[in-house]
Amino acid sequence: MTILVKRLILLDDFETNTYLVWSKGDKTAIVIDPAAKPRELFEEIKKLSLDIKYIINTHGHADHIGANRTLKKLTGAKICIHSLDKELFSDPDKNFSSFVDIKVTSPAPDILLQGQDEVSFGEAKFVVIHTPGHSRGSICLYGHEMLFSGDTLFFEGLGRTDLPGSNQSDIVHSINKKLFKLPDKTKVFPGHGGFTNIKHEKQYNPVTLF
Ligand SMILES: [Zn+2]
Ligand SMILES: [Zn+2]
Repeated sequence: MTILVKRLILLDDFETNTYLVWSKGDKTAIVIDPAAKPRELFEEIKKLSLDIKYIINTHGHADHIGANRTLKKLTGAKICIHSLDKELFSDPDKNFSSFVDIKVTSPAPDILLQGQDEVSFGEAKFVVIHTPGHSRGSICLYGHEMLFSGDTLFFEGLGRTDLPGSNQSDIVHSINKKLFKLPDKTKVFPGHGGFTNIKHEKQYNPVTLF
């Protein structure tokens, strides 16, 4: 069984990581956090001959949902987000796009996720981990020794908690009690910046100082 990952950076200012994750056998796939430039993203999807089943948003902030609408139209994929972040889809004030004058919205979710839910496609199976803190409905996806950590866990950093809906003690709890319980060798693919792994973060992440 081989699960493949490709990272794309489509949103220049925020440098959000968009991930294509697919099952090598049947090329079924998900897109995690389609940030922007849906047509460029779709060209990549066509080039790789992927069949996109789900669009998964790690949370509802504008820099992670900007291409949802067009990508859904182009692929027919189902949009999935944790129930506690769904209200951010329709409200540019709540997803913070109104601050930068773009007014990003997403179509309503097709599937509402909860912690422990499974996301399966082809031979791939990931588990949803609810990691509130950066936003109430932030999630990570774990499977195949990989963690897609959204804006919860970064390389030697963690998501900001000075926004409405964010909470510092929640993110500290999410990282220490949920993510740091995963095996050391787990590769971490964050919502921004470089890749890391759980072993490295247990040693160097500033969350250990809280
Ligand atoms: Zn965010
Ligand atoms: Zn972000």
